[in-house]
Amino acid sequence: MARELGELERFGPVLDALPGPAYLVGGTVRDLLRRHPPRFDFDVAVVGDAEAYATALAERLGGRLTTHGRFGTATVHYDDGAHVDVATARSETYPTPAALPEVAPADSIEDDLARRDFTINAMAVSLPDGELVDPLQGREHLRERLVRVLHEASFVEDPTRIFRAARYEARLDFRMDPKTETLAMLAAPAVAQLSGARVREELYAIFEEEDPERILARLHQLGVDVQLDVEFPPESTGLQQRLRDLNDMYALGRSRAHLGLLSIRAPQGWLDDIKVTRRIADGVEAAHREEPLLRSAIAGHAYAPAEIVEAVERTGPDTALYALARAEDPALRRYFDRLRDVRLEVDGDDLRALGLEESPRVGHVLGELRRRKLNGELAGRAEELAAARELLAE
Ligand code: ATP
Repeated sequence: MARELGELERFGPVLDALPGPAYLVGGTVRDLLRRHPPRFDFDVAVVGDAEAYATALAERLGGRLTTHGRFGTATVHYDDGAHVDVATARSETYPTPAALPEVAPADSIEDDLARRDFTINAMAVSLPDGELVDPLQGREHLRERLVRVLHEASFVEDPTRIFRAARYEARLDFRMDPKTETLAMLAAPAVAQLSGARVREELYAIFEEEDPERILARLHQLGVDVQLDVEFPPESTGLQQRLRDLNDMYALGRSRAHLGLLSIRAPQGWLDDIKVTRRIADGVEAAHREEPLLRSAIAGHAYAPAEIVEAVERTGPDTALYALARAEDPALRRYFDRLRDVRLEVDGDDLRALGLEESPRVGHVLGELRRRKLNGELAGRAEELAAARELLAE
């Protein structure tokens, strides 16, 4: 067993239970060789029937089996939350570029490795003996910190690999070799042929990485955003980082994908094309549309707090966040620091107890009370109730 693969011993129970020869494949092999085992996915390929293999493994491990409709894949769950994914070694051919491949069982692990994206991901470890299978110089490229495609048509066949290449460059601090980089630039127009859903999945994977800005900037350099008819933010703007910082600081609860999409300039309707949820698409589009309006409504004016809140609440739910991430503004800062947390201590039930029936007037009275409270005219429940009585008497 190669020395770097020593970490595998952690998986002794699985290795002991394997019902026959198999190969550890995918990113885990790469990360083991880098001595950088992050989350340890145990992805196994077998030359033959994955489901039968997984069934036997589940039995020997005392685990539970789930099978997936997709081409020969199954998962064995064992212990508390651990799992092994088993797939049939396969080869792939691309009948048309950018479409999904045609899949067939492979006769050898080498055939399976030959369908993969980059040499550093095209290594396997034979199990249980732990020998490295590296027909494409993956280990050497790992040492040279290179992201390198396996053949010239790779990016055209599957343009999602351009996104993946940029992702690995940033995550591993690697670089495409010059030829791979040229091929990526030449293939950039092919990203326009990807389905919207596949583009969305690639973007969401990018937003989950540590430094999405660097990845988007790289994709911009390769000409990918132009082909998608959108504009990725230059790294220098720091926009995504500021969105994430504000989101954390004010516990706004937006997902990384949501914040990432806020940083991309895109034509109306693009978020629908890539099948983003309604809520996110509406929030992001409104933010881009309304940010200049919100800014001109409040910037540079010494507005009363209630007016700031009113201006913010007239816009979509993401607009103030987006505006503040784009440029510091005292009124917006005040909104997030304090004003958005101002709540009345009375509610509709209190107004009913004061004799006001269910009607639009309830909303009006509560609105007026909130306005006064925001402006510092009411302190505490007793003062709110007194003001409510006054308003009802008018
Ligand atoms: P990591 O993101 O760390 O690489 P992972 O192993 O979960 O982790 P996946 O995206 O699940 O990564 O891919 C698993 C393996 O499948 C990759 O290592 C690669 O060999 C292969 N693979 C994934 N996507 C493609 C693709 N578009 N073209 C070719 N091979 C791919």
